Amino acid sequence: MCRRPASPTESDGVSGESTEIYIQIVTSGGRRIPVHASILASASTVFEALSYEKTIPIAGVPCDAVVVFVGFLYSGRCSEEDMKKYGIHLLALSHVYLIPKLKSLCTKALIERLTIENVIDVLQLARLCDAPDLYLKCMKFVSTKFKTVEATEGWKFLQTNDPFFELEILQFIDDTESRRKISRRHRKEQSLYFELSEAMDCLEHICTEGCINVGPYDMKPRKIRAPCNKFSTCQGLQLSIQHFANCKKRVNGGCVRCKRMWQLFKLHASICELPDSVCRVPLCRRFKVRGGEEIKNKKEKERWELLVKKVVVARATSSLLLPKRKRVEEEARPAACREVNNHHNHNYNRNLIC
Ligand SMILES: [Zn+2]
Ligand SMILES: [Zn+2]
Ligand SMILES: [Zn+2]
Repeated sequence: MCRRPASPTESDGVSGESTEIYIQIVTSGGRRIPVHASILASASTVFEALSYEKTIPIAGVPCDAVVVFVGFLYSGRCSEEDMKKYGIHLLALSHVYLIPKLKSLCTKALIERLTIENVIDVLQLARLCDAPDLYLKCMKFVSTKFKTVEATEGWKFLQTNDPFFELEILQFIDDTESRRKISRRHRKEQSLYFELSEAMDCLEHICTEGCINVGPYDMKPRKIRAPCNKFSTCQGLQLSIQHFANCKKRVNGGCVRCKRMWQLFKLHASICELPDSVCRVPLCRRFKVRGGEEIKNKKEKERWELLVKKVVVARATSSLLLPKRKRVEEEARPAACREVNNHHNHNYNRNLIC
C-alpha cells in the first residue's frame, strides 16, 4: 500500500537530496508552505493542472486555515478544533480546489454549529460554494427562527447588499409556510375521512349487532348495560339515531342534527355493497334506488362523489392497518359485554326503515 509522505510543514524541512518535486503554497500573509507536488496533484484536479507552477498563491483566507488545509491534503483528516475555527474557510477552499471529502466534512460541521448569529453568513457561503445540503439546512433554520434572525447584523447587511438574495430567502419562507398550511389542511381532511369511515363501521355495528340503546328490531333488549368498547363514538351515534327517529322537525324542518344523520345514512348507502335483503342499515335501500338523483347541482354532486371515494379509500386503509388492533381489542373484550351487544334492541329500525 502506498503511504503518503508526511507534510514538509510537519517534518524537519525539505532535503536538498530529495527527488520529490515541491511546490510552494504562498498564503495571503506571505507565508510559504512547501508541499509535495504529487500530493497536490492526487488531492485535486485543480492542483494537478497547476503542477508545473513553482508557487501557488492561496489568498483570502487566514494563513493558519491554509496550514490546516494542507494538513488535510496529506492526512485526509481535520481536528474538531480546526474545523470549529476554520470551517467556513475550509469549505471555501474545498469548493475552489474541488475536494468533495473536505466539502462534505465542512458541510456536516457547519450544520452542527449553526446559530442565530452565523446562519446568514453560512447561508451566503453555502450558496457561493454550491453546498446544497448546507444551503437547505440554513434556509430551514432561517424560516423557523426568522423573527430572531431578522434582528441580526448579518440579516441587516444582507438586506442592504444583496436584496435579490433577501427576496430568495423570503420566497423560501413563504413557500415553506404554504407547504405547512397545505399539509395541515391535508391532515385535517384525512382525519375527517377516517372519522367518517369509522362512523360507517359504527353504524353497521349498531344496526347489525345492536349496541346499548339501539339495535335491529328483531333483537330483544337486555337489562345489563355496559359501555360499548368497540367504537368510542358509538354512544353519540346511538343518541343521534334515536334523535333522528323521534325528532318532530326532521330534515325538511331544518333540524341540523337530523341532517347530519341523514348524510351518514346516505354515505352508508353510497359505499354499501351488501344486497338489500342482507343490509340492515336504515334507508340504505331507499338511497340506493334513488341513486344520486337527489343532488341536482352538478358541482355538489361531484363533491359528494369525491367525498364517497375518499371515505372508501380511508376505510380500505384503516382495514389494512387495524385488523391486528381489532383482534387485540376483541380478545380483551369481556364475554358478558359481547353478549350484551348481541341482545340490545330498542326497536329503532322499525321507525326508520322505509
Ligand atoms: Zn357499540
Ligand atoms: Zn332532529
Ligand atoms: Zn347498506
